[in-house]
Amino acid sequence: MNPDIKIPTFNDALPIDLFLKSSRSYIYDDLRQFEHVFLRYLTGIHYDFNKPLALGTSSSDELVFLIASCWRLGIPFVPLDPELPGRERDLLFQELEIGLFINEGEYENSSGTSFATVDIDRFALSRILHPDFTPEEWVEEHKKHIHPEQFFGYFLTSGTTGVPKIVPLKRRQMLFSARGSAKNLQPGRNHLWLLSLPLHHIGGVSVILRSLLYGSGIYRTDGFDIARTVELLQRDSRLAAASLVPTMLNRLMDRTDFSVHDDFQAILLGGGPIAPSLVDQCFNRGIPIISSYGMTESCAQIAANPLMRVGDLSRPRKSVGRVFDPNSIEIRNQEGESVTDGESGLIWLRGPQLFDGYLNRENNFDDDNWFNTGDFGHLNEQNELFIESRRTDLIISGGENISPAEIEQALKNNFDIRDAAVVGIPDKEWGQRVVAIVTTEDDRPIDRNHIQAKLKEVLQSFKIPKEIIKTDFIPRTKTGKIKRDKVKDIFSK
Ligand code: ATP
Ligand code: MG
Repeated sequence: MNPDIKIPTFNDALPIDLFLKSSRSYIYDDLRQFEHVFLRYLTGIHYDFNKPLALGTSSSDELVFLIASCWRLGIPFVPLDPELPGRERDLLFQELEIGLFINEGEYENSSGTSFATVDIDRFALSRILHPDFTPEEWVEEHKKHIHPEQFFGYFLTSGTTGVPKIVPLKRRQMLFSARGSAKNLQPGRNHLWLLSLPLHHIGGVSVILRSLLYGSGIYRTDGFDIARTVELLQRDSRLAAASLVPTMLNRLMDRTDFSVHDDFQAILLGGGPIAPSLVDQCFNRGIPIISSYGMTESCAQIAANPLMRVGDLSRPRKSVGRVFDPNSIEIRNQEGESVTDGESGLIWLRGPQLFDGYLNRENNFDDDNWFNTGDFGHLNEQNELFIESRRTDLIISGGENISPAEIEQALKNNFDIRDAAVVGIPDKEWGQRVVAIVTTEDDRPIDRNHIQAKLKEVLQSFKIPKEIIKTDFIPRTKTGKIKRDKVKDIFSK
């Protein structure tokens, strides 16, 4: 990193360490006890602090506290989808050389690699938080060794283009991301940020880290409940911000009574394509949104629009705003030349917010450290970025990025299926829904329910095709690539 660029700092002296409200209706205002107990546990098992620890549980208050403590104690962590099939998880454990797996309930380690395991119940908040707690100095001593160039976590990409990549992210990269985000939205000490996103992607985790850095609070919910979210955004005057993916916001907008209270600052929207019609709807109905663009490799958002609210602007914005300073952006054409004047091309990024490289994988950096995002877009004269498409094959359903290749492989591996093609077709509720065509070895009809049930053993449920049609052949190009548009046509008939 350029030594002239100063690493952002935040106010460490904030009196509130973590302010969390959850559906259990507890408010905790002291994280120090938790991190003491946690650090005591780790030193008790002689933990090697260079090894990442894996978090494999669903969203809970304890998980929020664990993630916050890992950040504060400088312990690298890897948050995992609790639905991740066991085999995939084992491979990850081997690749990451984890030192501890914090799990829910019983766990038998069959991964072929050794690490400690503990039930998250060991850190139940009800057991840990006592009013008479006094901090001990050795925790502060431990923290003195934390450095911005240390890894704060390992995050899995969504696996859109195949097997998810492991992205090691440094504390410095996260600090730049949090500062960029704060320019558009920085809730204060008495404000809450709605956390309904899952905690196994960078989007959810960054809500926790930003709240720690800004000193604001979190309102955590179990999953995304439309009625409850509408009620919270209308009534809870402490709730100032919410992070949502477009599918979630679409569902809120379906409710004609959806509005936000006067002190609500903004919905931070990102993670997938934002339909221009959604931006228009929000603008017309006075729902303040900040549309953003980012990826795991850039610690989530790296570009965002300033707040859009009726009256603030003459028209709703369809761009995702400018790239956060001091990061840079370039649009490059097929020849690899940098283009301007609104010309479309591949989006390349560089800067202190970008990761340094995948774990055990080929990277998409050029010799000058520019990173190829694989996304297409253009910049207007004001340097505002417009995302035109994602990589062509991608399916996004309910905010999750889904790779057709993985589902096709699973179909072909498990049944009498000879060939398969998976695409996303428009869906009012989910943005897109996964559908498949298949060819089989014989003339017998396929049993869709059976196929779906078998797929559930190897795939997360949102990846299971909702419709599966048997066809005579799969349309392919001469070089064997599936003609996905032709596949989509079958479903629009
Ligand atoms: P993989 O890298 O494993 O193939 P992925 O790139 O989908 O998966 P993520 O890091 O979760 O994994 O997603 C980042 C991607 O999401 C971006 O590269 C982009 O394609 C898409 N994306 C994010 N924000 C937007 C947006 N505002 N508009 C359009 N696409 C977006
Ligand atoms: Mg990607």
